[in-house]
Amino acid sequence: MGTRRCGVAMTDLGSDLATDLATRSAVSAIEETHFIVIGAGGLGCPALLGLVGGGARRLTIIDDDCVESSNLQRQVLYAVDTLGCPKVEAASWRLRALTRRAQPLDVQTLARRLEVDQNGALVGGIAALSPGRAAVVLECSDSPALKFAVHDACVTAGVPLVIGGVLDWRGQAMAVAPDAPERACYRCRFEDPPPPELAPSCASVGVVGAVAGVVGHCMAALALALTGPDRGRDCGRLHDFDLLAGRCAALAPRASPTCSSTHHKPATSDGSPP
Ligand SMILES: [Zn+2]
Repeated sequence: MGTRRCGVAMTDLGSDLATDLATRSAVSAIEETHFIVIGAGGLGCPALLGLVGGGARRLTIIDDDCVESSNLQRQVLYAVDTLGCPKVEAASWRLRALTRRAQPLDVQTLARRLEVDQNGALVGGIAALSPGRAAVVLECSDSPALKFAVHDACVTAGVPLVIGGVLDWRGQAMAVAPDAPERACYRCRFEDPPPPELAPSCASVGVVGAVAGVVGHCMAALALALTGPDRGRDCGRLHDFDLLAGRCAALAPRASPTCSSTHHKPATSDGSPP
């Protein structure tokens, strides 16, 4: 089947874009990068589609849930034939089915929930999820505590990340990179996770599926951009969507002088993260 210029098959996108040396280099960087997606739900599904459509070949998907019928309106990798299946397996099957390039997808799956200890730290850190590979983390869970823990673990390990959140008609996405310490981090903007009793949940408030799709794809675009040589350009900018009001904004908060994150501290003398 020939490639159409309009409506080009998603999995041909990477090769279709590789029309000059600079673009081929960018595609190669994306193919070599290991993308770790935490949460394969409303944000994780469109983020994974956006990553693979953009040329990503190496993925780890982490989620401990199984597919339920209530997921189908916004978790677009799943269908009735995967009800009851572990999400990581259903997502992997779907992504492989969408791929027909010579180089197969390298998809690792972890059917478990990442834990946060009593001090708010990610149990085990990030390094164990990405041995020996250039990595970008996408935090797509619905847990505020986990978002902060993953943020702090990535900052400590020197791993770039994208954090997203969605609730009702609103959503946000933000990239943080270790080589842009002068830019705002997630804690500059949000400081600390809210107490559990004050944090509205997706289950209690609901999520508009289309909003999750917009924010998830925005996260994928930010993550793909992090593989490039000028990856710090969009870091620290909060992409804020209120789709009921028809408003999309890219806010650039200043790095807070009182921020508690080590993101803004200089690297140690041997070049390792603080
Ligand atoms: Zn900060």
